[in-house]
Amino acid sequence: MAGIYIHIPFCKQACHYCDFHFSTSLQNKDAFLKALQKEIVLQKQYLKSEQISTIYFGGGTPSLLSKIELNQIFDCLKSNFQINSDAEITLEANPDDLTEAKIKELKDTPVNRLSIGIQSFYDEDLKLMNRVHTAEESIKAVKLAQDNGFDNITIDLIYGIPGLTDHRWRNNLQIAFALDVNHISAYCLTVEPKTALAHKVKVGLISDVDEQQSLEQFKIMLEAMHNSDFVQYEISNFCRNGVFSKHNSNYWKKEKYLGLGPSAHSFDGESRQWNISNNALYIQSIENGELNFEKEVLTIEQRYNEYVMTSLRTIWGLDLDLIQNNFGKKFLDDCLKEVKLYIQSGDVLNEENKLYLTDKGKLIADKIASDLFKTN
Ligand code: SF4
Repeated sequence: MAGIYIHIPFCKQACHYCDFHFSTSLQNKDAFLKALQKEIVLQKQYLKSEQISTIYFGGGTPSLLSKIELNQIFDCLKSNFQINSDAEITLEANPDDLTEAKIKELKDTPVNRLSIGIQSFYDEDLKLMNRVHTAEESIKAVKLAQDNGFDNITIDLIYGIPGLTDHRWRNNLQIAFALDVNHISAYCLTVEPKTALAHKVKVGLISDVDEQQSLEQFKIMLEAMHNSDFVQYEISNFCRNGVFSKHNSNYWKKEKYLGLGPSAHSFDGESRQWNISNNALYIQSIENGELNFEKEVLTIEQRYNEYVMTSLRTIWGLDLDLIQNNFGKKFLDDCLKEVKLYIQSGDVLNEENKLYLTDKGKLIADKIASDLFKTN
């Protein structure tokens, strides 16, 4: 089942930790929306008539779009792709955009899942990250969405924020659980180069992310999620009542997807391509009837490394039979040789020919994956 990702490259203000592609000027918005619809038509063959099981509006801030704008995009998608009647259709939203009027508008679109960027229920954390909303707006947004019929809601949280105590992190998790959402994505703050946060850390205005504290908060999260019946189906993603995200799962299961909009990535099973990360140049190319992207055909080693990286992080594990069948015996033998020490140390389990990270192993997931990687 294939997916479509649509990148909406506009935000009201820049969060200090963010290195995604976006502009805080909305002046190109109308031209972008026209170009996006043209790109949908130009890319209609990319997924070769596959059924679409998930559409994801990410960004940027897709909740800046109006009902009319969203419905125009959907009409265009419906005319050019085979979309399943039960497709998951997610829209990333910032809490300050989710007024009652806005939520009612969204109910008049095919959007059936909201991904709300809350990050923290403490205003001091939100200020440090330069988020545009308050903690109170976040709680109100979730309740309004639920009261108006959105029963599939995921929220994003961030831990490892400088100054976020373990006590506050525990409270953040408890507030999230009390909101009765079925899906939570929780990420460790990373200081990306060239961001305002990186600059502030460099000049000493903010202390750097404390790795030990982040690890401690990751452990706190695992225990709290477990106690509240959340299943960790990927290192950073948790759900209860079986509400897995189709979008996320498709990505980790290496299903094909088409990315539309500036900076969006696509994957057709053999190659990856990514659109230019510049709104004006994106619009200009599409207006000229041309797609502006870079492409990389994946080598067998790259495909293997991506499989190792993503599968090990998930509840479905790394399938050794799949490695033998798709990559060959040499890949399997090397994988088994490298993983042996991690099995002995209790970081990895081998059950029915599948490798799974233990809770201990999850703390060093990236290291384990990179030790299993193949170089060209
Ligand atoms: S709202 Fe999202 S995309 Fe926009 S700056 Fe903040 S984190 Fe980045």
